[in-house]
Amino acid sequence: MTRERDEIAVVGAGLAGCLLACFLARRGHQVALYERRPDPRSGTPERGRSINLALSERGLDALRRIGLAEQVMADALPMRGRMVHPVHGAPGLQSYSASGDRAINSISRGALNNALLEAAAKLPGVRIAFEHRLVGLDPATGTMTFETPGGAVTEGARVVLGTDGAGSAVRGQLLAHDLVTESVDFLDYGYKELTIPPLGGDFALDPGALHIWPRGTSMMIALPNPDRSFTCTLFWPTHGTASFASLGSAAAIERHFAQHYPDLPPIAPNLVDDYQHNPVGVLGTVRCDPWQVDGRVALLGDAAHAIVPFYGQGANCAFEDVVELDRCLDECAGDWSAALPLFQHRRQDNADAIARMALTNFVEMRDKVASPVYRTRKRVEHALERALPGRYVSQYELVSFSTVPYAQVRRRVRRQYQVVGLAAAGLAALAGAAVAFGLRRLR
Ligand code: FAD
Repeated sequence: MTRERDEIAVVGAGLAGCLLACFLARRGHQVALYERRPDPRSGTPERGRSINLALSERGLDALRRIGLAEQVMADALPMRGRMVHPVHGAPGLQSYSASGDRAINSISRGALNNALLEAAAKLPGVRIAFEHRLVGLDPATGTMTFETPGGAVTEGARVVLGTDGAGSAVRGQLLAHDLVTESVDFLDYGYKELTIPPLGGDFALDPGALHIWPRGTSMMIALPNPDRSFTCTLFWPTHGTASFASLGSAAAIERHFAQHYPDLPPIAPNLVDDYQHNPVGVLGTVRCDPWQVDGRVALLGDAAHAIVPFYGQGANCAFEDVVELDRCLDECAGDWSAALPLFQHRRQDNADAIARMALTNFVEMRDKVASPVYRTRKRVEHALERALPGRYVSQYELVSFSTVPYAQVRRRVRRQYQVVGLAAAGLAALAGAAVAFGLRRLR
């Protein structure tokens, strides 16, 4: 069968790819969306592979633009702060915002992907091909080769957009043609998912918070699910004496959790089974350059800039990419050869900025959140935000509850720290002068 050449090919029907297909179809393009997996709407999710994620303002902003935010939010669970679990003693809540009422949202990754897929499938001009794994690409012509259950298939497109995730095959093809350079910095930490099922039909922990167990060299978080379970993610080095590799038996696993996460075993009856059977996922930061070649092939989302998950921003950032590309197409009157370089120009610094903030946040989450100094700093920061509304805004607030570009967030936060540092130094000097003056008068 011969088919008209598709105008735009989107490779990877994950979060960014499905959203992108929706935006492009709305612009009137013929879009072919290729996905290596079978249709996820008719299958069961992979075991132990990040079943929920935190969606915040940047992601919601993108969903609002295609009228999907309300539907997605119907099943979201708002988390207004971090519930920090010490080894001994009661957990304590640290709210995310000065007002205490702003929330990031725990949502099912599968449900979000399916909602986007469904939305894309309904749009005229979108064709979705499942079980199509891209294995070859000629960047000069846009000719793609896919592995399918029926054998190799060749397809063509005027523009090829790679939204095929951190291990992008599109990026791999551009590398093979010497058209891009890449660096992949793997963290020496991996992650494993564990489950806290409902307890007596209800949530075993407060569902209004993101739970965190900071343990210095390791860390665990838990996000609530609509079925009243929690998905925990344990971050730990992949190798070494204290690592995923170090717990060889059921007894060792039980001992480890009883010692370091004592409130978990009583509410996680499948802990040992989860630990033994769920895979250890890898974490890393992907950087590549350029993100586009000749206005014909481009990378978006994790394919261009995968980051570590500690700011809960990977998907939010990928969604923001789609909004920005749409804006660039508007500004360039639909000319791809102008829009794709402009897109890279606008987004690359921002992707670099959130990549750095995500790495720094790992140290904050696993080491600092439990310390009294950190808690005091946060209280002072929230007090400043209340005293200087709109003028002092915390980094967390700017990243999670605004669409201020990430690179601007970093610059603004640095300036704020400088001003506050100067003010504190000035106050200290004033206090010193007052004490000296008082002492002189006493003499
Ligand atoms: P993906 O979601 O990876 O989608 C890529 C798609 O391409 C997949 O469907 C894949 O099957 C398909 N594909 C791959 N190769 C091919 C091929 N050769 N041919 C055809 N199709 C192919 N982000 C947040 O915003 N908030 C969070 O709280 C959060 N938590 C996270 C927790 C963990 C543990 C991890 C690992 C990540 C987390 N993220 C979070 C990051 C988020 O998951 C990613 O940033 C997001 O999924 C990126 O979307 P994407 O569409 O670019 O890539």
